[in-house]
Amino acid sequence: MKYNKVKAIDINIFLIPMIIISVLFVFLSIFLSNQINTYYTNMMQKESNKLARNTSIMLSKSSAAFDTINEFMTKRVLDAAKELKNHKGNLTSEELIKYAYQLNVDVIYFYNPQGEILASNSGEFIGFKTFDGHPVERFRTSDLSLFVEDIRLDNETSLHFKYAYVRFDDGYFVQIGIYAEDVFQYLTAFDQQNIIDDLKNDESILSISIIDKKYRITSSSDLDSIGLNVDQKRLVQSNEGVLYQTNGIEVYEVFAPINLNSVNVGFLNIQYKLDATKDIIRNMTQFGFVLLISFYIIVLSIVYSSYKKNKQLIELAYYDTLTKLPNIDYFKYYLEENLKKDKSVKTIILVNCINFKRINMSYGYKEGDFVLQKMAEKLKLLNSKQCKIFKFNADRFIVLIENSDNKDTLNTIREIETMFSSTEFKPDLDINMGVVEIEKVKQDVDDILRDVSIALNNVDNNQKYAIFDAKMEQSLHREDVIEEELKEALRTRDNKRIYFQYQPIFKLDDHSIVSFEALARLNTKHYGLVSPIEFIDIAERKHIIVPLGEYLLNEACLLIRKLENEGFEHIKIAVNISGIQVMQDEFVYSVERILKKHRINPTQLELEITESVYMQDFISINQKLFQLREMGISISMDDFGTGFSSFYRLKETYLDILKMDRYFIKNIDSNLDDKHISKDIISIAHKYHLKCVAEGIENVYQLEKLKNYKCDYGQGYFLSYPIDEDLVLDKLKQIKRVK
Ligand code: C2E
Ligand code: MG
Ligand code: MG
Repeated sequence: MKYNKVKAIDINIFLIPMIIISVLFVFLSIFLSNQINTYYTNMMQKESNKLARNTSIMLSKSSAAFDTINEFMTKRVLDAAKELKNHKGNLTSEELIKYAYQLNVDVIYFYNPQGEILASNSGEFIGFKTFDGHPVERFRTSDLSLFVEDIRLDNETSLHFKYAYVRFDDGYFVQIGIYAEDVFQYLTAFDQQNIIDDLKNDESILSISIIDKKYRITSSSDLDSIGLNVDQKRLVQSNEGVLYQTNGIEVYEVFAPINLNSVNVGFLNIQYKLDATKDIIRNMTQFGFVLLISFYIIVLSIVYSSYKKNKQLIELAYYDTLTKLPNIDYFKYYLEENLKKDKSVKTIILVNCINFKRINMSYGYKEGDFVLQKMAEKLKLLNSKQCKIFKFNADRFIVLIENSDNKDTLNTIREIETMFSSTEFKPDLDINMGVVEIEKVKQDVDDILRDVSIALNNVDNNQKYAIFDAKMEQSLHREDVIEEELKEALRTRDNKRIYFQYQPIFKLDDHSIVSFEALARLNTKHYGLVSPIEFIDIAERKHIIVPLGEYLLNEACLLIRKLENEGFEHIKIAVNISGIQVMQDEFVYSVERILKKHRINPTQLELEITESVYMQDFISINQKLFQLREMGISISMDDFGTGFSSFYRLKETYLDILKMDRYFIKNIDSNLDDKHISKDIISIAHKYHLKCVAEGIENVYQLEKLKNYKCDYGQGYFLSYPIDEDLVLDKLKQIKRVK
């Protein structure tokens, strides 16, 4: 699997359908082209056959029509001729007019035997004489007594007539004519050659011929071929039409039979030029291709855009938008796949920016983003075959070292340390690292991530990193159990499991008790007594310190109430307060509310706040201390000297008591320089009008020294161990008795 490539975008998902679509398109194109070709060729063949059939029918009909008309006209002129034959003697023009009317003919000419017109019904052409070659002359010189001519053009009138001739016994003869101009025009339309010439006008026809029964061409658009014989085999073969090439032209040829009264009288032969059809086929094919290609492009663009969209979605899902690094989901996927294939040892370093929240708060989110980008840039420098970088979450990064050994891991840790300690990082970056070595055995990625987070949580203050080990896991488990028990005890307000012990604080000069420090105890089912150092820390981290603090303050108030009832209203109870509690906006109000609830005199309450808490937000905390003191509550600064003691601040801090950490008391009897510091702390406290409590007095020597140093109060196992609540009153009464 490749790293840094868009994770799940399997190109095959898009490529395979694309290839299938492309192949389909090729087949479709070929198929379409063939279909167009076949369709048009078929259509053209059908058209050709139809035309041939229609033409042949027309020819058959024309032939029949011609015969009928001709027969009818022949009969008319013949009847008229026969009628005139009965006339005796010469004919005058007047008589001819009468005859023409009676016989329903158009012209009648009366000739003498020499061929001269003696009379006419129209009165025209009298005196005209026939001459050699003239059609009338042909009859005159013949020995026929009755003759009917085909319709012909009259030389003299330039009109078509159907003429008949009848000869009298004396050699005189009569020419009878029917006007046949319209009929002639009509009949010429039926003339074979004319039909052929008309059809020839069709550009798609190469040649058209009529063939008689003896396979002789009788009429043709190709005049040279008239009279030639057609090969009988060709005619039979191409009965259904054939395609062939002649003189480089593609031709489709059909032979359609011409029938007259159901009797075959010949054939019509048509040769079609295919170029026009081919053009149509080519155009249609081109159009089809353009259509297909457009469709193909559309499909391709749809596939491509969905590929791009998918890629974007995957980028959104698997990459961090700010740093452009692969994200935690990618990491999980990558590691899972990697663990399946590669059994080599791998190490995961979780790099955490400790002060990122503060950078965001102080410099703004824009600067925060910039810092993260810079961190990513720096870490990318580790990007090698062995190291791969991922973004874990807001301010955490993962460095995965493949094929790592201990040396590689330590080197990489050092490299990261120096990377972020460099001065180029402004604001200063404070980072720590959790490290986990993935064992050869297969592991669940979520477990690995949990382990590395545990390691990070176990980085102690002096070190920049912690390597995960099984003990950390156990401690995590212990933490979970303590958290659960703590929550349960709070829920049930179980004062057998969560309660106070009270350690008296003595006035050192007269050994009287001035106050008791309330020290929280947790008695768990699993681990028995758990130190407050441990469970208070857990409560702080698991966000249960506020309800726990309120519960404990309530418990302390119950004792104060008892003390007051017993006449010990001058004895104070000192309650430890966590920094998180103090920083709550409603802290002062909540203390006031609890005091009121128990009707407690605030002067009997003392609140201990550790020195380090002041450092977090001095102004706001000091303001709250002011309000609390105004109410009459005493404030003591706990563990003084362990934090970043700032003596000059003491002056402006609202305080009553300084509790010197037992570190200084412990060293009083040593030879260390620290042994004098306790004296200094006491005198500084006095300088600022504060009382000083020495914590952790364990022997008489320490006690005497502190007395010498004029320390006001003392607390420690030497004076008294913390005692149960029910012993507090006894203790007070006992001391009172002694006095
Ligand atoms: P601290 O407030 O400094 O309390 C004094 C600690 O010193 C107590 O430990 C006490 O038992 C111990 N101590 C007293 N005399 C001697 C001595 O002579 N020698 C030695 N070695 N130790 C002595 P403890 O009870 O274990 O409490 C530890 C810390 O837990 C407290 O330190 C305080 O910071 C925290 N804590 C205890 N109870 C509460 C609580 O109710 N709320 C909060 N927020 N913190 C608490
Ligand atoms: Mg304390
Ligand atoms: Mg203390």
